[in-house]
Amino acid sequence: MGLDPTELKLASPQEDIKPRYDAVIIGSGYGGGVTASRLARMGQKVCVLERGREFRTGDFPSRFPDLKNNIKATGERLSSGSDGALYDFRSGADIHVLMGRGLGGGSLINAGVALRPDPRVFEHTAWPAEITRTSDLDEGFSRAKRMLRPATHDAAATMTKYKALERAGNANQTSIAPAEVVVNFNDTTNPAGVSQPACTLCGDCCAGCNVGAKNTVALTYLPDAHSHGAEIFTEIRVGHVEKTDNGWRVSAKTVSDNKEITIETETVILAAGTLGSTEILLRSRERGLNLSDRLGKGFSANGDIIAFGYGADDKVNAIGVGHPPRVELDDVGACVSGQIKISDPGNLDHEMYVQEGVLPSALAPLLPMVFIPGGRILGALKSLVKGVYNGPFANLHTFFAVSHDSAQGEMTLQNDRLSLSWPDVASEPVFARLDAMLEKISNASGADYIKNPLDKTMVGNRPATAHPLGGCAMGRDARDGVVNHKCQVFTGDTGPDPSATHKGLYVCDGSVIPRSLGVNPLLTITALTERAMILLARDNGWDPEV
Ligand SMILES: Cc1cc2nc3c(=O)[nH]c(=O)nc-3n(C[C@H](O)[C@H](O)[C@H](O)COP(=O)(O)OP(=O)(O)OC[C@H]3O[C@@H](n4cnc5c(N)ncnc54)[C@H](O)[C@@H]3O)c2cc1C
Ligand code: SF4
Repeated sequence: MGLDPTELKLASPQEDIKPRYDAVIIGSGYGGGVTASRLARMGQKVCVLERGREFRTGDFPSRFPDLKNNIKATGERLSSGSDGALYDFRSGADIHVLMGRGLGGGSLINAGVALRPDPRVFEHTAWPAEITRTSDLDEGFSRAKRMLRPATHDAAATMTKYKALERAGNANQTSIAPAEVVVNFNDTTNPAGVSQPACTLCGDCCAGCNVGAKNTVALTYLPDAHSHGAEIFTEIRVGHVEKTDNGWRVSAKTVSDNKEITIETETVILAAGTLGSTEILLRSRERGLNLSDRLGKGFSANGDIIAFGYGADDKVNAIGVGHPPRVELDDVGACVSGQIKISDPGNLDHEMYVQEGVLPSALAPLLPMVFIPGGRILGALKSLVKGVYNGPFANLHTFFAVSHDSAQGEMTLQNDRLSLSWPDVASEPVFARLDAMLEKISNASGADYIKNPLDKTMVGNRPATAHPLGGCAMGRDARDGVVNHKCQVFTGDTGPDPSATHKGLYVCDGSVIPRSLGVNPLLTITALTERAMILLARDNGWDPEV
């Protein structure tokens, strides 16, 4: 019998933070989780600092008011929601970004699709050659899979939403296959010693799994780190890092009352996600830290969109029922059960995946307001919640699509806040290609393609991504990258030694990825971080097998 996920408490009281650790890890998504677990296993005194709060299994929003209160939205003229919110929505002038915040990062709210990119992705010149020169990346993927355990459900192909996408795809000569997701489909005790019940196929993955079946970082790498002695602190926001005579000083503030905290350490791992790590390094550079001029550049949205097909002829059954289920329905399935791959052997950038997604049950009451003109009035009627499952929304397709873009976005610091710009992003060819494919798929099932149901709201018709990448991208040296293939940060020297790195400073998260992946990124972020930890162990003469 393992640890009960509903009782798991990993974070310690903030008063227990010590003045010095061997390693301080900033952020607790995939990069933060892997590094915390591996460094703690290697005997390092590890401290994890996460700005969000700890959510236990059972704490995730299941009603619309809870979900609404769990959105922090910020932008140039926008600031709403609390610091304890689960979703972090950044409204940009050119593109919006949706991320997770909380102990476990994006793993708490993602769909869990775990795919390895096409080999051509890593052969691209954007990557340092070392990435493919040895088998270390393969070992990184193997380790990532051992902990996150991607799987397909035995009955994935019988789910209504799977069959709906299959029919629509067949009409366009594309074929569907079950998608691997980091979901546990049988009662088990996982490699971190946590008891995980089998998935109930409720579809609510993107609001957080209240069953404990999704293999989040909070149920895998972080409990493993904790049981190997890592100290974990939540609601602490790191501002910047600076060099000291014997390592690094991390400057942070408590989220609740802005109390300043400084921690000294030999090793800093930035794992605050694409926007978070880039922001911390930009701020550190403003305070004197030498870094590559590439910092902030090369932002990619991973050619990623969420779109809809409204009014299909047949049932799609793609609205989550939650846990415990709010209505009796056929199984919905995990958030993604099946996917269509559109291959292009001659042109990697034209490849794409279309996945059938599920909207979380807490969003159900909102759908009439979003999709039906005048639905605001209808939405007030309580009975409509049931109608969402039986009426026109039962025939709503939600598509997650992912492909390739040009990674031309740029992050800068404006008035001490991160700003993302990508003026031409809407005319990136990938969006026209995705629209054309999704329109064909929607029409084949009798549905209208709805690219963005929120275009009349403050969201506007700008693209949005849940897969932000880049900003601290890998490169050969400081002239074309911010970190090397080991995730060590370049000193920024463009003279005699452009490949020199800062001792003990690493970035391990989505920000190091130098181009779009064409697949959902969680497995690659985890694998690259596992690889970086293998190399760090070797460089220090430690055992990477621990
Ligand atoms: C709705 C949704 C669905 C998705 N579905 C999929 C999917 O099916 N498959 C897939 O592969 N990917 C998916 N993704 C994307 C995936 O979750 C992210 O790519 C992944 O979580 C990024 O991992 P990371 O380690 O880079 O950082 P994150 O997971 O973003 O973690 C970074 C952490 O750092 C914290 N942080 C930030 N700034 C600071 C600071 N200053 N101080 C302290 N802490 C800080 C944040 O709160 C966060 O917890 C989805 C994302 C969303 C939002
Ligand atoms: S479908 Fe439901 S039970 Fe299964 S992983 Fe997703 S949220 Fe958890």
